[in-house]
Amino acid sequence: TETLATRDPELFGSITNELGRQRDEIELIASENIVSAAVMEAQGSVLTNKYAEGYPGRRYYGGCQHVDVAENLAIERAKQLFNCGFANVQPNSGSQANQGVFQALLQPGDTILGMSLDAGGHLTHGAKPNQSGKWFNAVQYGVRKQDNRIDYDQVQALATEHQPKMIIAGGSAIPRQIDFAKMREIADSVGAYLHVDMAHFAGLVAAGEHPSPFPHAHVATTTTHKTLRGPRGGMIVTNDEAIAKKVNSAIFPGIQGGPLMHVIAAKAVAFGEALRPEFKSYIQQVIINAQALSDQLIKGGLDTVTHGTDTHVVLVDLRPKGVTGNIVDKALGRAHITCNKNGVPFDPEKPTVTSGIRLGSPAGTTRGFGEAEFRQIADWIIQVVDGLAANGEDGNADVEAKVRAEVAELCARFPMYPNL
Ligand code: PLP
Repeated sequence: TETLATRDPELFGSITNELGRQRDEIELIASENIVSAAVMEAQGSVLTNKYAEGYPGRRYYGGCQHVDVAENLAIERAKQLFNCGFANVQPNSGSQANQGVFQALLQPGDTILGMSLDAGGHLTHGAKPNQSGKWFNAVQYGVRKQDNRIDYDQVQALATEHQPKMIIAGGSAIPRQIDFAKMREIADSVGAYLHVDMAHFAGLVAAGEHPSPFPHAHVATTTTHKTLRGPRGGMIVTNDEAIAKKVNSAIFPGIQGGPLMHVIAAKAVAFGEALRPEFKSYIQQVIINAQALSDQLIKGGLDTVTHGTDTHVVLVDLRPKGVTGNIVDKALGRAHITCNKNGVPFDPEKPTVTSGIRLGSPAGTTRGFGEAEFRQIADWIIQVVDGLAANGEDGNADVEAKVRAEVAELCARFPMYPNL
């Protein structure tokens, strides 16, 4: 009957403080969300005790009959969500899902073509410090200077020149939809696999509010904790049976051991939630809110990359106000608005400084914020940024305190986890 609070007060303190932070601050990190109590209940369950190497019905351990039910539910729901024939729900993270795809379809030294980090791609798509950039011959494409959209002509030219075995579409800071048919056409022209990493926009695809990677992608990966609103984790989906078999062997025994059955159970819960009609309305609101946020920031004198968004991501270009991402990120933190500094395409600043911040609407929308709240948040951001523009990196303490108080009022109107 001992509780966490009495057994380990020090650790318990970190959790209660984090709950307080989440309740009292506005979460604008584009890759975060707020899971349901049901998702947390599954993740905090006895399934954490179980070893289940292998796949449902084909395990290397006894006693797997009940965790098999959980994994099969996750698989079947994932297939329904993404309208595909196969899902591996075991990857422990989005990075491991990508690693699994590479292990399945590539050899060390093979050429891959992915979007560069500077342009909005992800580390695991061939960035130098990542294993994908070290073990493969990674070539990187970017966006067009005139409109910051993916440069499909460059993708084609690089593909023709380097003959990659795999082309990766997707990224972490892309506010616009990707033309999957075009990417597949380029992949086909050189006989490459098309791998779509839909980590960011998977929830939008699941809700039917964003084009699906299928039928164009040979294989797609995702995280389960961003717009999909599940536990932290990854997943691989495909319609190709031969690829499916290779993916299963790549995840286990290729790169992982015992799957996190409690996390897989939580994935099943989240996928079940995403299949409900309310999830479609949620995602529609996510997009409306992101568009309102972008619009109001532009009205306040900032710019956003591509001057808007089709998704949940708003990449703010701070240069019109002469401030940088590192100081804005800190100042907004002082005002209890959480986001991250982020490079904009062709950013003249170092990655530790940046000319931008990345914002997203998934967490705030889960909390219940609508368009009016997101416009209000944009106004607060402008006020804090104007304080920095006028006074340098210390900003305007009075303005920041005023915003912090108003943020507290807004957060109190939209309570989180009332039963915790
Ligand atoms: N792929 C993309 C496009 C991402 O944005 C991310 C997360 O930041 C990942 C992969 C990696 O996911 P994880 O952080 O779970 O390893």
